[in-house]
Amino acid sequence: MRMGMIEALDVHKTYDRGGAAVQALRGASLTVGAGEFCSIMGPSGSGKSTLLHVLGGLDHATEGIVRVDGVDLASLSDDDLTRFRRRHLGFVFQFFNLLPSMTAWENAALPAMLDGQRLSKLKPRAVELLERVGLGDRVNHRPAQLSGGQLQRVALARALMADPAVLLADEPTGNLDSESGRAVLTLLRTCSEEGLTVVMVTHDANAARVGHRVIDLRDGVVSPAKSPAV
Ligand code: ADP
Repeated sequence: MRMGMIEALDVHKTYDRGGAAVQALRGASLTVGAGEFCSIMGPSGSGKSTLLHVLGGLDHATEGIVRVDGVDLASLSDDDLTRFRRRHLGFVFQFFNLLPSMTAWENAALPAMLDGQRLSKLKPRAVELLERVGLGDRVNHRPAQLSGGQLQRVALARALMADPAVLLADEPTGNLDSESGRAVLTLLRTCSEEGLTVVMVTHDANAARVGHRVIDLRDGVVSPAKSPAV
C-alpha cells in the first residue's frame, strides 16, 4: 500500500560547529497529507535543507518527532532506517549525484540494486521510468552526454524506482535554466497528481507555486500557513 503522510512535531535540530551550537530547527511542526505537494520556502540558512533531511531520515532530529505513515523514524535502527528510506522515500537534490561511468538506466536502477536486486532485472522498470520523464531516447547515454535538465530527470527516475510514497526534493531546479526547471516541476506535479507525496525545498517563489501549499520557514520554525497557490 502506498500512502505517504508525513508528520513533524516540534522538531529541533542543533548542529555542533566547532563547539558552538547552531540551532537549525527550533520547533518546526508540519503535516503533509498523502498525495500533497508541499513547497518549503525561506531565506538561506532558515533550515529548509535540514528540515527536508530530517523528514527523510537522512539526519536525526535532536528533539521532536518525525513520522512517515505513522512510523516514528527515531524508533528505527540505522539499518531499518536505511531500508525504510530505500523503500518508502525518494530523494532529488540540486546536484544530480549521478555516477559518470554508468548509463542513464543504470543510474536510475542503482539504488534498487543496492537494495539487493539484480541490475539486469531492473532494466525494464528503469527504462519505463526514463520514458515517463521524457528520456526514452537517452537510456544508454552517460551523464556527460546529457544536459542539466536531462540529468535531473534521470535523478527523478532513480528516485521513483522503488515506487516510493514520498518524494523529497531539495532545490531540484536550483541548477537548471528556467525551461528545464519548468519541465522538472511539471513532472513533480504530475507525480503528485498520481498520488505521490512531494515535499520540495526551494527559494524560488515561482517554483514553489507549483505545489498545492507553500510553507514558510523562518529561523527554523514554520510560519503560519499561506493560502494555496492559484
Ligand atoms: P537552508 O537550507 O534554509 O539554507 P540549512 O538547513 O542548510 O538552511 O541550514 C540551517 C542552519 O544550519 C545554517 O545556519 C547552517 O549553517 C547550519 N547547518 C546546516 N548543516 C550544518 C552542519 N552539517 N553542521 C553545522 N551547521 C550546519
